[in-house]
Amino acid sequence: MRFETSRALDAIERRLSVDPLVAGGVIDLVEAARSVDLDGGRPAALLRLGLFVDALSRQLGDGGVGLYAVAERGAMSDTDFTSNERMVLRRWSDDGLIEMLPPGARPGARVREVAALTGLPVVSRAPLQGHPGPVYITTGTTSMELALAPTTGSTPRPHPVLGRYWRCPSGDCPMFGRPPAPGTGQAPPALPSGAPICPRHGERLIDAGVRPPAVPMVVRIDGTVRTRFAVTAARPVIVGRAPEEGVTIGKWLDDEGARRVSRNHVRLELRDGMVLVTDVSTNGAAVLARTAPMMAPREIELSRHEPKAMGEWDEVELYPEVTVGRADRPPADVAKGGAPNSVMADAPTMAIRLPPK
Ligand SMILES: [Zn+2]
Repeated sequence: MRFETSRALDAIERRLSVDPLVAGGVIDLVEAARSVDLDGGRPAALLRLGLFVDALSRQLGDGGVGLYAVAERGAMSDTDFTSNERMVLRRWSDDGLIEMLPPGARPGARVREVAALTGLPVVSRAPLQGHPGPVYITTGTTSMELALAPTTGSTPRPHPVLGRYWRCPSGDCPMFGRPPAPGTGQAPPALPSGAPICPRHGERLIDAGVRPPAVPMVVRIDGTVRTRFAVTAARPVIVGRAPEEGVTIGKWLDDEGARRVSRNHVRLELRDGMVLVTDVSTNGAAVLARTAPMMAPREIELSRHEPKAMGEWDEVELYPEVTVGRADRPPADVAKGGAPNSVMADAPTMAIRLPPK
């Protein structure tokens, strides 16, 4: 059982990330681990985090999506966790896979701050009053389905602090130590009084240069996410069957799809914080416009070579059931059959009492 537990924790570990371009939601780690009502087991169990990873995967139709988890240092000495779990927490913290706040800090407040700055939805057990962005809440007491809370606002324009890279003066900071590799993002600084602070060390961050804004996007085919990419300012991305440079989706198309989707089908670019889409195809493309996830989409044909601004919940349809949209803004009707790529596949059923499938 110990072997199975560590395999399941490894699977969860691979899905933890404080990179907003990789994560699909933000969560209070200890709140999730203490969700005893989900299975009636131990007061705190790290494996429970996997239930939330899987639920988010189902919600987004994305078997590879990351989870941005926030905890406070006290968790690493909390004896409700096993010694192995405390060791795993320390490793996740040291490797910068989770955000570990100084003693006494409130993870719930930081979760909201991360969500407000990045636009990532909060994953929570209960609705959050007054939070401007999307919140996924668990439905029922023992079910691990997530639902979007009705208080969905629209994401505010990116905060100016996200227009810079930041470096922590503390020597070995796993979050703000070295500049992120190209194509990856950086966690948002904490802004307790307006100035950017390292959420882990509490030290004032040093400006490390311009960060081009980026928006995480995904290609969904039949509701399932096939690939993820970022649209970065000043660097347009072509999505098509086989673009020379860009996002290639040909291998996931059936024969008819391969005939209808052009080699270069749409061009996406980021301008003034807005994703613009341009139809560069032979057979045309449409925007499925929604102002909220639950709305039935309104189909708007794109005029060839004319850029159109995409709304937060809009998708571009290249061909029926082949769409491109924001990674963290899924339509309500994504495929929800089974958990794609479940992190709990190896979890021992004895470790926490899993609800019947
Ligand atoms: Zn730091």
